Amino acid sequence: MKKFCVRCGSEEGDTIYIVDGLCPRCFIEVNKPSIESIKIRYCGKCGAIYCSGKWVAAAESSPADTAKEIILKYLKFSKKIRVADISINLNPYEDTNGKAKIVFDIENKFKFQYELPIQIRWSRATCPSCLRKAGGGYSSIIQIRYVNWGDEIARFVEEVLNVYREYIIDIDEVKNGYNIKLADPHIAKRIADLTRRRWRNTKILESYGDSKKLRDGSRFSRLYISIRILNFKRGDYVVLNGKPYRVVDIDEKGVVISDQDGALHRIDMDELVLKYMKSRIKHSI
Ligand SMILES: [Zn+2]
Ligand SMILES: [Zn+2]
Repeated sequence: MKKFCVRCGSEEGDTIYIVDGLCPRCFIEVNKPSIESIKIRYCGKCGAIYCSGKWVAAAESSPADTAKEIILKYLKFSKKIRVADISINLNPYEDTNGKAKIVFDIENKFKFQYELPIQIRWSRATCPSCLRKAGGGYSSIIQIRYVNWGDEIARFVEEVLNVYREYIIDIDEVKNGYNIKLADPHIAKRIADLTRRRWRNTKILESYGDSKKLRDGSRFSRLYISIRILNFKRGDYVVLNGKPYRVVDIDEKGVVISDQDGALHRIDMDELVLKYMKSRIKHSI
């Protein structure tokens, strides 16, 4: 008996190869990733495209090729099927509702051409080197402050340096913390999110400063993110509402503090975070 496709009934033949009980078309339709649209970030100033965690300048690789590389990354199928060739009509920097003509290779035995509808959305951004030119150096500053120094702080800073090296313009170690100057405010926000996930007790404040008008008429202002990591330890001295206390005990939910007369008070972390942050962020660095 001839093999046939359990989905559409096609029989195996010269042009139909049955894999996992399916003909090539059904196999692709069953296994294809659900891609509604593919978003590509590009720099509105120089045309660089963001691909695999870095910006590729238009001079390094043609925008169409870089876009194709990004689209290919979205087309991850099963192990039995890979994209052998792809052609897409795309205009770099213009949204397209198109079809990608894809030649699939099934188990290295059979090639099959399939048209996959693909929506390509371009999202305008500014690459770090253009930001640097526009902002006179840096567009955002993260001020990280901790209560207690520890390995986890050192590890965190090292990670940030490794991952976002190309966006970091300068890093300064200051008393109880670091000031990190960055070329991209999106990255600054991402780092703030990282701290929030790493330490439950962080207080993060965002503000804008250093506003100025650029030569091309647009406005520029710097994003300031103040991050307080409230990693208290027993014996720490804290000032709440202007009164000094000592941390006596600490757990997931809060701290027990002792006032000057030795009376104990229990404070929830959330409340502590609020009270501890009465101090203003300073824009002077
Ligand atoms: Zn079929
Ligand atoms: Zn650029």
